Amino acid sequence: MQRLTQYITSFSFWDFLNGMKVTGKYFWKKKFTIQYPEEKTPTSPRFRGIHALRRYPNGEERCIACKLCEAVCPALAITIEAEPRDDQSRRTTLYEIDMFKCVYCGFCEEACPVDAIVLTNMGDYHVEHRGENILTKEKLLAIGDQYETHIAKDRHQDREYR
Ligand code: SF4
Ligand code: SF4
Repeated sequence: MQRLTQYITSFSFWDFLNGMKVTGKYFWKKKFTIQYPEEKTPTSPRFRGIHALRRYPNGEERCIACKLCEAVCPALAITIEAEPRDDQSRRTTLYEIDMFKCVYCGFCEEACPVDAIVLTNMGDYHVEHRGENILTKEKLLAIGDQYETHIAKDRHQDREYR
């Protein structure tokens, strides 16, 4: 009986017609295809893309080299070296994140007491050469400078969720 049912559904194009029914149902509906990369879908303020280091409006870097992010990172992806400046303020001399080790958990962002290290909403990046997977302090600050407006907006919206 089961075999007979299989023959009937095969010869009557039942599955094909069912498929066409779904196609017909959505044929005139609004399309959700976007022209990436010119167009992008909205992202949550909590999206965890490439990292950035932020500065204060006066240009001073936020990071105070407390190393909490390095301690909390489950992937041991962050390396920090620090020493006091002439004015005795503590700042990093080396801040690196290995993108190949990072699991984008966001713990570093959560742990940072001064909102210095953040994960931006930039998810479309790539590396082409060996060693480019290391995000140096200079690269991280440059990303922060470039996207500060967006980062600040996301951080503000994120706080409203909490
Ligand atoms: S997102 Fe997670 S894994 Fe990546 S650097 Fe931060 S704490 Fe480490
Ligand atoms: S980024 Fe934040 S948590 Fe990490 S060392 Fe700097 S101040 Fe501390």
